[in-house]
This record gives sequence, structure tokens and C-alpha cells, in this order.
Amino acid sequence: MLRALAEAYPDAHCELDFDTPLELVVATILSAQCTDKRVNEVTPALFARYRSAADYAGADRTELEEMIRTTGFYRNKTNSLMGMGAALVERHGGEVPAELDELVTLPGIGRKTANVVLGNAFDVPGITVDTHFGRLVRRWGWTDLEDPVKVEHAVGELIPRKEWTMLSHRVIFHGRRVCHAKKPACGACLLAKDCPAFGTGPVDPAEAAALVRGPEAPRLLELAGIRDEVPDRSVEKAAAREPSA
Ligand code: SF4
Repeated sequence: MLRALAEAYPDAHCELDFDTPLELVVATILSAQCTDKRVNEVTPALFARYRSAADYAGADRTELEEMIRTTGFYRNKTNSLMGMGAALVERHGGEVPAELDELVTLPGIGRKTANVVLGNAFDVPGITVDTHFGRLVRRWGWTDLEDPVKVEHAVGELIPRKEWTMLSHRVIFHGRRVCHAKKPACGACLLAKDCPAFGTGPVDPAEAAALVRGPEAPRLLELAGIRDEVPDRSVEKAAAREPSA
């Protein structure tokens, strides 16, 4: 399964746009209950306006709320951004720390966010257990645990540490494109022959292909061995659909 995922998603990556650790912290705080696409629409102006932790700490609340309003829960997120900026200034000289224990003490940063930041801004291997990751590894029988921290440790035991970050990206990519929560595209899934949960969603190739989302769709259908069974028009439609949030 690891090999198939690597072949399917060789360039899987964090889908939030950022250049610095601080920008990634901000983007991950904004991504709660919001699509990465929406966050990426908001952050260019935000990052241009607020360049340092001190800028967030001393932000004009009303202005900051307005800038992030479209990401939802903007009052809570504003609290988190201002608190996070203040904590970085007070305790870390304005820099984002590269340790999990330190990151999780910052306002708005839980263990999931901290692992995203470690893995993507500091190249420290981390397993990101979001809703997609948890659902998929349970479907695959890698664990039956529900608690994200326990899932993180259980999967960490199975997979070499150096692969944790890329594995997280690939599993999340697959969850957003093929193995959906409600109707997984089992009949169009490149993992079908190895997956104990095959049949959770439609197994008919055409029906399943209509559930695949994202620009990688043609290649995913090819890897699933059903590209020739699906009309070109359906493949184009799949490629045009946004991956799910
Ligand atoms: S076969 Fe179905 S349940 Fe298994 S990974 Fe693929 S889409 Fe998900």
C-alpha cells in the first residue's frame, strides 16, 4: 500500500501556501473548519500586512478579524493569532520553536497543527492525524483506535520515522480525492486489491470514477486499471472537481 500511495502521489505536499514557519503556523490556525483553498485566498494579503509575531501580537483586532472573516470562526481565530504572536514574542524571541512540546503550548496550536509545522517547516518527521488520516488508516486496519494521539503513535510504530511526513501527505491526498468519508470511490481505487474495506463505497468503475476528485484523476484511474472503462468526459469532470476539504 505504501508503494502504491507513493506511486500515486509522488509530489504530495502540504496544500497550504507558506514561505516561513510563522506563515505556516498562521495558515494552519486558519485552516480549522475551512478549506485549504479558501485559506490560500486569504493569506497573501494577510502575510503582506503581518510579517512578524510582533505584528500579530499588536494587531488591530477589528482589522485582523475582517481580513480572515471568510475562513469562518474568525473571532476565535483572531484570538489565537494574537495570542500566538504574543506568546512567540514573550517566550521565543518572536521565532517559531521547532519542538513539539513548545509548539503545543502556543494558543491555537494543537498536536495536529504542531506536527504539520514540524514536518513542513522544519523537516522534523511528524504524523498528521486529521479526519482523513484517521478514517483511512482505520479502514485499512492499521489501527482501530479513534483518539488522534493514539492513532499517531500506533501508525508511528508501523512506519519508519523518516517517512512519516510524506505518508501523512499521501494518505490525506487519497482521502480528499478517492477514499471519501461518505462514499469512497472503491471501484476506482488503486488500493482496491489490498484494502480490507473495499466495497464500503461503489465498486462499479463508472459509478466510482464519478466520485474521484482533483487534477490527478486521469492518472489515478490509470493506476486503478479502469481508465479505459470510463468515458473521457467523466474523466475530465473528475479532474475538474476540487479535492474535498
Ligand atoms: S478500496 Fe475503498 S475503502 Fe479502500 S482505500 Fe480505496 S476507496 Fe478507500
